[in-house]
Amino acid sequence: MGAVEAGGTKFECALARGTDEILASRRIATTSPTDTLGEVLQFFAQAQRAHGEAVSFGIGAFGPVDLDPSSADFGRLLCTPKRGWAGVDLRAPLLERFGKPVHIDTDVNAAALAEARCGSARPLSSLAYVTVGTGIGGGVVIEGRPLHGVLHPEMGHIAVRRDPRDAGFAGICPFHGDCLEGLASGPAIEARWGARLDALGPPHPALEIIGGYLGELAAGIALMLSCPRVVFGGGVMTGGALLPHVRRAASRRLNDYLPREPLRGDLRDFIVAPGLGERSGLVGAILLAAG
Ligand code: ZN
Repeated sequence: MGAVEAGGTKFECALARGTDEILASRRIATTSPTDTLGEVLQFFAQAQRAHGEAVSFGIGAFGPVDLDPSSADFGRLLCTPKRGWAGVDLRAPLLERFGKPVHIDTDVNAAALAEARCGSARPLSSLAYVTVGTGIGGGVVIEGRPLHGVLHPEMGHIAVRRDPRDAGFAGICPFHGDCLEGLASGPAIEARWGARLDALGPPHPALEIIGGYLGELAAGIALMLSCPRVVFGGGVMTGGALLPHVRRAASRRLNDYLPREPLRGDLRDFIVAPGLGERSGLVGAILLAAG
């Protein structure tokens, strides 16, 4: 199987026999579509010559991306702010070059699928995955299947209640200003405090403020989806200092309204770090390829 985790800064590619058996892999920088996709094709051509042909491909893509197989734009990136990539068809190059089925979903739906199936000792049929990095995105698996819709969930752009200590900051989302991504993504943190969260050092109030915003999302996920776990990954979460603040804020917001574990109490088993570490996206793309 061929797997691609297509991100705004890099494309992680792998030829794999299963989620535990990667035969070849390569990290390719996201530059122009022609160069990046050209390198992806080159990698798979070389890897397949060495290890045998992939029977299918899976792509976990940054978005927004059209996931409707009946749409003329199926597999195309839509209004992405990533320069030069709007309208680019991610499926077609692999399909045309290798002639094998190419399955596509969002990077966060792929990661959610991987965390649900392989992220802990006991597989879960429902789970949400949130990435907090250059942007904020969320994917959802319900009853074993990634959740789509007209497009797919874009929960990074929900409105959140403002922290009074943060009242002077307008937010950086070009569409909504102070939506969650506009307030709590990596670039929003740097715009506000001039440094990454892990460089500000505790006990900087930023941890509590950003954790508070992300906690609003986690509480919303518990209330709207009732899934038993939400995984928080991405660069801003790295190091683990933020996670307790997310739990505390979500717990305060829910206030034990949902009277069942793991959605009550300190939420230790509900809000967790990725069980697969940084591998969730690529493992998810392998699972997508497997169909
Ligand atoms: Zn927004």
